[in-house]
Amino acid sequence: EQPEFDLRNYIRNIPDFPKPGILFHDISPLLRNADAWQVATGRLARVIAPWQPDILAGIESRGFLTAAPLAQRLGCGFVMLRKPGKLPGETVSLDYGLEYGHDTLQIQVDAIKPGQRVVILDDLLATGGTLAASVQLLRNVGAEVVGCSVMIELTGLHGRDKLDIPLHSLIHYE
Ligand code: 5GP
Repeated sequence: EQPEFDLRNYIRNIPDFPKPGILFHDISPLLRNADAWQVATGRLARVIAPWQPDILAGIESRGFLTAAPLAQRLGCGFVMLRKPGKLPGETVSLDYGLEYGHDTLQIQVDAIKPGQRVVILDDLLATGGTLAASVQLLRNVGAEVVGCSVMIELTGLHGRDKLDIPLHSLIHYE
């Protein structure tokens, strides 16, 4: 571990993406830098391991980028939360409100064994709507959700107030 390694240097802020007026936090520079990616996954692993999860759940699509390799590293299973119509077999859905409009996440009905300990991963927490819906969806299929972890938290939007379980973030912006 390199405690002085500042992951902020590997986040690129792009104005007016995907729409005018939105400042997009792009994690691509972090992913393509071998040292930064090692530091980021190492720090995530050290926070998540003590939660003793059985399953890491990734939110489509950038949540998959951390959840899948960390599941291997920590000896957990990996489960996908996906946009509608992508998962085969019987699924359970949850519709949730966004600032403008709404969105849906799905999970396979048999993805979680009753009481399995689940940690949810995504790239970024903004309003918290996506993570709060993911917590609810996982509970609806029998999970014990023990924590959430994101690479970036936009603290000014108070998304963490929507969550009733621990949330960890690697980097935060006001
Ligand atoms: P929330 O539901 O917390 O308002 O929004 C979080 C979701 O939107 C996450 O799934 C995240 O991938 C996506 N998102 C919103 N803004 C950004 C951004 O600036 N950068 C990235 N990488 N993802 C974002």
